[in-house]
Amino acid sequence: MAESSDKFLTRPPLVDSFGRVHSNLRISVTDRCNIRCFYCMPESNVQFLPRTELLTFEELTRFVSVVASCGVNKLRLTGGEPLVRSNLSELVGQLAKIDGIQDIALTTNGLLLADYAQPLFDAGLHRLNVSLDGLSEATFQKISRRSGLDKVLAGIDKAIEMGFQKIRLNAVSIAGITEPEIIPLARFARAKKLELRFIEFMPLDADKSWASDQVLSGEKIKAMIESEIGSLVPAERLDKSQPSMDFDFADGNGRIGFINPISQPFCSDCNRIRITAEGKFRNCLFSTSEWDLRKILREGGTDADIEAAVRDSIGQKKATHGIDSDAFVRPEKAMFQIGG
Ligand code: SAM
Ligand code: SF4
Repeated sequence: MAESSDKFLTRPPLVDSFGRVHSNLRISVTDRCNIRCFYCMPESNVQFLPRTELLTFEELTRFVSVVASCGVNKLRLTGGEPLVRSNLSELVGQLAKIDGIQDIALTTNGLLLADYAQPLFDAGLHRLNVSLDGLSEATFQKISRRSGLDKVLAGIDKAIEMGFQKIRLNAVSIAGITEPEIIPLARFARAKKLELRFIEFMPLDADKSWASDQVLSGEKIKAMIESEIGSLVPAERLDKSQPSMDFDFADGNGRIGFINPISQPFCSDCNRIRITAEGKFRNCLFSTSEWDLRKILREGGTDADIEAAVRDSIGQKKATHGIDSDAFVRPEKAMFQIGG
């Protein structure tokens, strides 16, 4: 990883009108995926971006160099499924060399992880989030509308074997579907010594059929775990911009986190910005506006032009996503088109 120091902060930090400083960038590397989770993608006839519309690794690296000079130091690669983008480890290697970048992580569904864990690790990726909503193949198929839980579990084992610094499991919770998965997942994570985070279902499904009664709240899950496994005590909150409320098992064996964007929004501490696979810059997951960075990158724009577009977007970031308000408008794009 490139040397990390404030000396690389050659431009002013990315501060919005509420004083939030943005240092965390989520990069979507593709909108394609090898499964079709109902909370993210349509089941069939998905309209994917033509490959020529995706930012190239060179374009992405240039963009990241510009925002790194403004204080962005953490990156997360996502999608779609990032591991379906060819040669992803090359991109990791290029990003790891950028001055100021201290941390590169990846969110994956794990299906191809057993194949790519080694080159990614060697390229400088040391943190992974693997999505795992349950441990039964029936639930996997109900959610993803494809098969393959065994491959995900093999990918997790391979990543553990490789010695990744941190591997987290992410489980989306959906009322009426994932309740039976919660206790087995918590036991599995404890046994494997992996952190587990439950994420509330957000209105970003492509079918636009999200309803608030499908949200299984973090609070309910916590109560289930405490009654079946053991009590949870709040973990020290070292980074207040991280969205998860973490708890440790009182017996010292395991940590469970809750990302509760619906029941407990955490927008006031948000430090995240995003770029979609086709180079649209977003100041929020729920943003309804985007800034076209690809146009700037491909039409001879300068680094100052890139920075100006980023600052313009961040300047217009709203205080909160407002899902609980009557005025809430869903983004046109679904999760796979934005990058989770
Ligand atoms: N394909 C990769 C994966 O599934 O891990 C990365 C992209 S995916 C969009 C990133 C994360 O968003 C995953 O953990 C996924 O479960 C989660 N996610 C997708 N749609 C969601 C929704 N509507 N609400 C909450 N989380 C969602
Ligand atoms: Fe693919 Fe991830 Fe979306 Fe599931 S959540 S369809 S794995 S991009």
